[in-house]
Amino acid sequence: MIIVMKANLPEDSPHLRQVVALAESYPGVRTEIRRIQGATRSVTEVYLLGPTGVVPQAPFEEFESVEKVVRVTQSFRAIGRHDGGLEAVGFEYNGVHLSQDTLHVFPGLCAADTPENLEKVFRLLQQLGIVTTRTGAFKPRSSPYDFQGLGAACLPWVFELAGKYGIRIVAMEVTHESHVGEIQRALEASGRATGVMLQIGTRNAQNFELLKAVGQETELPVLFKRGMGITLEESLNACEYVATGGNRRIVFCLRGMKTNLGDPHRNFVDFSHVPVVKRLTRLPVGIDPSHSVGRRAVGPDGILDIAHATAQGVIAGANMVLLDVHPEPSKALCDGPQALLLEELPRFLEDVAIARRAYEERCRLAAARS
Ligand code: PEP
Ligand code: MN
Repeated sequence: MIIVMKANLPEDSPHLRQVVALAESYPGVRTEIRRIQGATRSVTEVYLLGPTGVVPQAPFEEFESVEKVVRVTQSFRAIGRHDGGLEAVGFEYNGVHLSQDTLHVFPGLCAADTPENLEKVFRLLQQLGIVTTRTGAFKPRSSPYDFQGLGAACLPWVFELAGKYGIRIVAMEVTHESHVGEIQRALEASGRATGVMLQIGTRNAQNFELLKAVGQETELPVLFKRGMGITLEESLNACEYVATGGNRRIVFCLRGMKTNLGDPHRNFVDFSHVPVVKRLTRLPVGIDPSHSVGRRAVGPDGILDIAHATAQGVIAGANMVLLDVHPEPSKALCDGPQALLLEELPRFLEDVAIARRAYEERCRLAAARS
């Protein structure tokens, strides 16, 4: 059972103590208090743990300070909406607001290779007014002989250049918990020139120790990528590990499923699950069309397959688009075949804006009919 207190309740509120005392008066019941800092208000939730089946809702609903009482219906208790009982929660990080209502595009290098290439990307992003990007330093590769990323060595210039071009968030994969400390130290040394969102890649979607480690993080948000060969339910439960550690700043990202049924795309595009994940969880939902489609093929209509897949996700309400770009894809050390050219980015963004307008119009129509 989850008791949602009225917004902006002070941490030391006597009302909160009363609710906790009543909850803990039931045999074996423990409580956990979670504060969610949204953009405009903070919400306190009291989680009742243990044998809560016999705990009645009514005595809690009588408290003036209680907004509502929600019965847990999903195993992923902290990220779940529980049949619509809980609202989506967005978060603000380094001046950027991410929620189920916003949309941000994160174009960038799959893997940092040279400062010159990175600077070309960041300069363009600044010209286009984009403050969010992706840059890989620690790359999980299928073969040990492939480029593994430049590792911690590139972090100083990645963060310095990000700061120089006004980048507020760099989505960066971590494959081991030690990478979190390396990122934190480099950010500190850069004078907090930018911010980092810790990316959990699809291969680590069930690396529970890594998930627990990023769940302990109190500052950096997490971009959790759906496991490519497990069920959605399993991915959501894995994502729950991050939230139970205490870190609620999570974006859930769809990136395609590994099945040859999706051929010739690299992964079977699963963006029809955008509204599903938005309904099941409180999290903003991202899409990664680059790793889903995996190639720069163009349709007979002149539109890139990657742009078509993106439009499918955005028109269904996606909140984030992770996109590979590279100044010279043929020379990229990782995933060059799926990188868009820099000159393709402005048109790609126009396309995203068209799909987003269509989504907003669809929402207006749906609201008018209900
Ligand atoms: C990536 O974004 O660089 C990546 C490796 O993605 P995924 O984990 O989805 O394959
Ligand atoms: Mn990649």
